[in-house]
Amino acid sequence: MRIETKLVHGCKGFDPTTGAISFPIYQSATFRHPGPNQSTGYDYSRLQNPTREELENTLACLENGTTGCAFSSGMAAVSTVLGLFSPGDHIIVSDDLYGGTYRLFEEFYRKYGMEFTYVDTSDINSVSQSIKTNTKAIFIETPTNPMMKVTDIAAAVEIAKNSGILTIVDNTFLTPYYQRPLELGADIVVHSGTKYLGGHNDTLAGFIVVNDNDIAEKLRLLQKSVGAVLSPFDSWLVLRGIKTLGIRIERQEQNALAIAKWLKDNKSVEKVFYVGLPEHEGYEISKRQASGFGGMISFTVNKVELVERILERVKVIAFAESLGGVESLITYPIVQTHSAIPKEIRDRIGVNEQLLRLSVGIECVDDLIKDLEQAIG
Ligand SMILES: *Cc1c(COP(=O)(O)O)cnc(C)c1O
Repeated sequence: MRIETKLVHGCKGFDPTTGAISFPIYQSATFRHPGPNQSTGYDYSRLQNPTREELENTLACLENGTTGCAFSSGMAAVSTVLGLFSPGDHIIVSDDLYGGTYRLFEEFYRKYGMEFTYVDTSDINSVSQSIKTNTKAIFIETPTNPMMKVTDIAAAVEIAKNSGILTIVDNTFLTPYYQRPLELGADIVVHSGTKYLGGHNDTLAGFIVVNDNDIAEKLRLLQKSVGAVLSPFDSWLVLRGIKTLGIRIERQEQNALAIAKWLKDNKSVEKVFYVGLPEHEGYEISKRQASGFGGMISFTVNKVELVERILERVKVIAFAESLGGVESLITYPIVQTHSAIPKEIRDRIGVNEQLLRLSVGIECVDDLIKDLEQAIG
């Protein structure tokens, strides 16, 4: 079955007992047992809940994995993945990544004895050169947030397999609609479901998807032990969001390409970072490993003063954190999403005071361009 159809129908797709087309919200914390030593398959909602299970199975199906786990946020999912490792373990991480992930690793896991090295994973040699005897995984974001660098997933997987370590990919930006890292050999996929999967800026969610039974078992144990699970109602919201993921992200990509081209020709704009522009460094790799470029653009303006002006003046586009929803959002990474990243790393990767990030929504692209035009002036 093609992914367009899988998105609409989910895993079971409907409630087998009533035929309800919209999967029911099982708003129950606990489940009544038929008798001693008997269970309906559901005992307590931290362990399993039918609505969450439908969503987890849907994610597994979309990513071509065997097991999906749903969490109350993307960070809860990333944190649970880190539970697979032990004090003394070392992980190689993309240096241009979501600020919250960096904060979690540095502020939390480092004090439990874990080590992290931040490298430009789009330069595959620097990945292999960073492997140490205690390295246990490579954690990749691709395209990266906010500089849109592309890492060759299959090449990273090859390095990881040769060293007997895991490859973890944060697939939030492209979603399984455009990119499926498990098919390229990755071991673990993580998501902020808050973004494209949910798609409506109305709920937080996070996911892990794997295709290895041992890893799946460990993750299930962590999920029920730590307990940062997604609620039945939020699970339903994401199930509903996923139905339209395909048409949303296609429209977002179409709009993004038009906006990227428009920005490129604007004299106040210095540089445009959009993977879908043929001159983008990662264009060819992206064409090989993904079926689309997504709806995220970053750009620098030629004067710092312009940033304030743009953020004050935008009307259709909202000045807000987050991404991937139907509404277009503009973000100022240096003070919002990436404030936790130290200046030295920010300078190295190019997150400066002139950089803005745009999450393109599904509005009419003419209105979006008109809005940018009047804001940039
Ligand atoms: C937002 C985001 C996260 C964190 O997810 P939350 O749902 O906000 O906890 C992780 N990775 C990427 C790439 C993100 O964009």
